[in-house]
Amino acid sequence: MILGIDLGTTNSLATIFRNGKVELIPTIFGDYLTPSIVALNDEGEVIVGRLAKERLLTQPTHTQAQFKRFMGTKEVLTLGEASFRPEELSSFIIRSLVADAERYLGEPVEEVIISVPAYFNDTQRYATKLAGHLAGLNVERIINEPSAVALARHYEYKDDTSYMVVDFGGGTLDVSIVEAFDTVVEIVAISGDNHLGGEDFTALIAQKFIQSLGLTSALASKSLYQKILLEAEKTKRLLDHQDQAEMMVVEGEKEHRLTFTYDLFLELSQSLLLRLKQAIDKALYDAKYSRVSPEEVILVGGSAKMRLVQEFLEHYLQRDILVVDNPDTVIAIGCGLAAGIKERQGEIKDMTLSDICPFTLGTGLVNDVYSPIIERNQSLPCSREHRYCVAELGQEMVECTIYQGERMRASDNHLLGSMEVPVPRNFEAHEEIAIRFTYDINGLLDIDVTVLSTGEIFTKTILQEAIYLTDEEIMERKAVLAKIKLNVRETELYRSLITRADRLYAAHLGAKRDRIQVETQRFEEKVADCSVSRLPYLCREFTMILDKIEEEA
Ligand code: ADP
Ligand code: MG
Repeated sequence: MILGIDLGTTNSLATIFRNGKVELIPTIFGDYLTPSIVALNDEGEVIVGRLAKERLLTQPTHTQAQFKRFMGTKEVLTLGEASFRPEELSSFIIRSLVADAERYLGEPVEEVIISVPAYFNDTQRYATKLAGHLAGLNVERIINEPSAVALARHYEYKDDTSYMVVDFGGGTLDVSIVEAFDTVVEIVAISGDNHLGGEDFTALIAQKFIQSLGLTSALASKSLYQKILLEAEKTKRLLDHQDQAEMMVVEGEKEHRLTFTYDLFLELSQSLLLRLKQAIDKALYDAKYSRVSPEEVILVGGSAKMRLVQEFLEHYLQRDILVVDNPDTVIAIGCGLAAGIKERQGEIKDMTLSDICPFTLGTGLVNDVYSPIIERNQSLPCSREHRYCVAELGQEMVECTIYQGERMRASDNHLLGSMEVPVPRNFEAHEEIAIRFTYDINGLLDIDVTVLSTGEIFTKTILQEAIYLTDEEIMERKAVLAKIKLNVRETELYRSLITRADRLYAAHLGAKRDRIQVETQRFEEKVADCSVSRLPYLCREFTMILDKIEEEA
């Protein structure tokens, strides 16, 4: 059984394709989203998801969130004393999703399809695949998130049309232009921003608030900053349907307040909206090459719920905007469909998804000149070759550097790696080499270089030198990570709910306090004489009660 996984910056979700339809995998809490947050407890166990989210406030130094932003970098993130790479933290999320799926399905999961932002570069894609391997899984395919959306939408409506999918999440923005007809979903243009998302809007609000306290974010303690971020997030959401919102943060005895108006938020957000506009423009420009002008605009991702974003797009594109009714789950549904296609199940088996490469790939020449070999938006898989002469007579070695990006100077692009190719020493003529780049269906790159005079071929499949692991290294790391237990959630769940109730109690006064106390006592009594199998149910029930209390302003 192939599991589809939407591995988000903020939330993750898994799906399967079974009996002709996609099913969402429920978590132990009875909901579907697993916050992409990882914590380490005192017993050295890893805690994932909702429980880890609770700990962001209580134990910020032992908790990590938003690490998808660092995928593909050398960043090392700490959970207390222990340190992990972003792909290792992601592997814990994947393990947790797989554990939920195995419990739900009653059978083992060995293969996964994982979605990534279409605008992820080769290194980020490689890191994502590595995360799957580190979780002990076979990664069947890496699928672009907007392509998953397109698949889900076309499968549901089956109309021949073209559209722009804007996926605006917590940390990334993806814009794709799609043509759909019959059983074919074809991506014609991709653009985006790997470092733009809802969290940037939240951070703006938080910064303004911190400024109003006469502090800087560097000066605020980690726990105060977490509190401020949490309130900033609430404020951001309130401004979706209110013209102003008061933000309040309690610090010890003190209460800090600041009123935000929608207009102030709009003003603060100008530079972020400009980046959104640039990504949209680029996608529209590229789509013109395929003579596609999108008929519909489809918004997905949590940040697409922002009034600011909706109004901006409506105004800028002069078109009705469709916010899908399941923005939180649609990517995972697309992943589940991709799993169904892969397994050649039922009516879906004839569907095809034709994707493209998001970036131009090229090599660096003398004087930092960039020489593109595969231009962006080519259909995948694809392969192209260019010939080059060595610069000097008698030269014995050519260094081929490989870049991904659209900039004129080679070094302004993202360096994927380099490879040294020996050539025969020749004083009569300039030796020639042919560089061939091949993108596979996942948007991952292979390179081979042929020395034309000898016919010798040098290949390299792995360019991600910074984060690359050999097979043995993967085995070793996998073994180390496998020893770290995922927390047995039932007991931890109980403890964390009590912690949460305690926190809520501390944060409130009066009647609400009383209610929290009564509900908590009731919960504890029920738990005291319940069977083990009933505990998850009781926890779920109590979680909903707390959710409700928390939501009430
Ligand atoms: P990802 O796919 O990156 O995990 P999501 O698509 O789940 O992210 O989006 C998460 C982002 O959406 C967060 O930054 C969150 O603040 C934002 N978000 C979710 N709901 C709303 C809302 N109602 N109004 C504004 N922003 C929202
Ligand atoms: Mg997402």
